[in-house]
Formats: sequence, structure tokens, C-alpha cells
Amino acid sequence: MKYDYLIVGAGLYGAVFAYEAKKRGKKCLVIEKRNHVAGNIYCEEIQGIQVHKYGAHIFHTSDKKIWDYVNQFAEFNNYINSPIARYKDELYNLPFNMNTFSKMWGISTPQEAKHIISEQIKELNIVNPQNLEEQALSLVGTDVYEKLIKGYTEKQWGRECRELPAFIIKRLPLRFIYDNNYFNDRYQGIPIGGYTKIIEKMLEGIEVRLNTDYLANKGELNEAIDKIIYTGMIDQYFDYKLGVLEYRSVRFETEELNVENYQGNAVVNYTEREIPYTRIIEHKHFEFGKQPNTVISKEFSSEWKKGDEPYYPVNNEKNDILYAEYKKLADNEGKVIFGGRLGAYKYYDMDRVIDAALNVCKEELA
Ligand code: UDP
Repeated sequence: MKYDYLIVGAGLYGAVFAYEAKKRGKKCLVIEKRNHVAGNIYCEEIQGIQVHKYGAHIFHTSDKKIWDYVNQFAEFNNYINSPIARYKDELYNLPFNMNTFSKMWGISTPQEAKHIISEQIKELNIVNPQNLEEQALSLVGTDVYEKLIKGYTEKQWGRECRELPAFIIKRLPLRFIYDNNYFNDRYQGIPIGGYTKIIEKMLEGIEVRLNTDYLANKGELNEAIDKIIYTGMIDQYFDYKLGVLEYRSVRFETEELNVENYQGNAVVNYTEREIPYTRIIEHKHFEFGKQPNTVISKEFSSEWKKGDEPYYPVNNEKNDILYAEYKKLADNEGKVIFGGRLGAYKYYDMDRVIDAALNVCKEELA
């Protein structure tokens, strides 16, 4: 046998597995259908700026083990994500915190903010939030929901807030202190030199074949190799035979501009429904760039269809039930391990992807 493992997909999950396997003397072949490694954390340098080609990624974790792990592959800067939300002509700080509330209501103390929110919640009578709308309303009240959540979420997911799971909004902190840090995690930053370098480092000394589609050669490859790590879409692996899982895709309009500083922040969310994009990313601000020019990307969210790039699994009840059926097929597919955002059909952050990969390594490579 020429290889111990075939790894399908050179994203974060596949690269962590390959790195760990190689460390233990296993021979891996990584195949990747795109013409570059790093999956959706891929960065491309434009005018000296690391451009996050498949959407902005900010590394954050509370898990010291994971933080130490990624720091083997890159040094991280001290970027702290503090997005701005723009609703019509109004600007607010995110996540929802005292800066947001004082701007919205002209108040200054946590007591005043809590009082206003509780007055708004009282009228709604939500006991046990069943969906994103009820969850959001019962946390922050109607004003914040209407201005900062409803339009953005419906654009991002293409679904009514009532049809989305509550957990999506629980990703965002809610605080009654003046603190614009988007994450509650202990560790946060952007890798100096970009994410692609991390993946390249993980894959050093490992055979990688780009522009290679696994599914087109599945039969052959499955026969030749004992064990496969598959990080593509789980439903596509099974030729969608139980039905199609829903994903959201994103289209980026990236522009190089002849200005030094376009929007004064890395992330500006456009929370009103009428503006077709969800946010504008100004990449240089992730790394405190001082270049004379700038690069921005507008993000347009759309429903995934065959042929598009999948970005976000839509983890509502219907899809999670279908996924559970695919998971049963996957568990019976003895030689294949499914992982990553697409293989596990989970709205994973990067630290959770690494954690999941390391856990599989522990079992598989013990
Ligand atoms: N969200 C919102 N308004 C915002 C930003 C986020 O309502 O200005 C909601 C929206 O439902 C979104 C979710 O919070 O899908 C999670 O946002 P996050 O920024 O974590 O999404 P990601 O960066 O993963 O796209």
C-alpha cells in the first residue's frame, strides 16, 4: 500500500489530520479540487494585504490547548474583532453592549439599559424561545432586534428569523459593560502573514495534488487506499441519495481602491434589509495595514445550489434530521471518516474544527 491515508480536501480539518498522521510516521496523500490549499481560510496577498478570499476569518478560542496548537504554525497579532453595524444612517457597536444601548436609547447605565429591554420583553410573553426570532427578542428586546438583527439575519440566511434555530444568535455575546470585543474567548488574533501559510506549514513534506476531484475518481481511489478522511459535503459523497442538505453560499465583490482607509474598520455590517450585501470587509484592518491602497469585499449571501461553493450549513430541524440519516450511512462506510464544516454539517468555528480533527487523530492514530 502506497499511502496510509487519503485526505480529501486541503482545508483546516484535512491539514490538521495530515500533519498529525505524518508526525506519527503515516504516509498521506492530500487531494484538493481547487487550485490552492487552505479551503475557505485561504488568503491571497493583494498589494501587500492578506485578502480573505472566502470570507473573513478571525481566530478565537478559549481552549489553551488549541491556541498553543495553532501558535506552532504562525504568530498571531493582537487584532480584536469589533464590528460596526450600520442601520440606515445610524451606526452602532457590536456585539450588543452598553455602547450599542447608549447610542440606541441615549442612556448611560446598565440599569437603564436593562430596564428598557425588560419593558420591551414583558409585552412579548416569550417563555421558552423556540427559534431565532424569539431568542433574539427575549434577550435584547424589539428595538435591537428590528434594527440590528432581523434584516441582517434574513439576508444572511434567506429565511425568516422564525424559521431559524436559536443557537445562531447565541453565538453573539450580550453584555452590560462598555466592551466591543465581538468574542468572549480568552485568545484571539489574526495570523501574521495570513492563514494560507498555516496550512502550508501543516502540509510540509506531504504530497498534495491540487485540481483533483475525489468524487470523479472515488471508486478507484477507495480501492487503492485503506482509510480516507473526507472533508467535502457529506450529502454529495452519497450522491444526494437521501436528499439535498441546505447550505448558504456567499458571493464576494472584491475591489482594490485608491484610498488609504475606506471604512475605518475591518468589518461593517449592513443590517437593513434593503441593502443587498450583508457586510463589507476591509482586509488591511485585520493586520493594521499601512499601505497607501486598500482592498474591500462586499458579501452577498445566497442559497447554495449544485455547482456553488458551500459556506454555511443551515442547521435547522429539517436539515439536522436529514444529516442524521446521512451520518448513519457514514458510520457504515467503514474506511471513510467524515469531518470539517461540510463533512460534519456543523456551523463550526476554526477552533472547533481543529479540536474535532485532533480528537479523531487521537482515536485513529493511537
Ligand atoms: N447577526 C445579526 N446582526 C449582525 C451580526 C450578526 O443579527 O450585525 C446574527 C445573524 O443571525 C448571524 C449570526 O448573528 O447569522 C452570527 O453572526 P456571526 O458574525 O457569528 O456570523 P459569521 O461571522 O459566522 O458569518
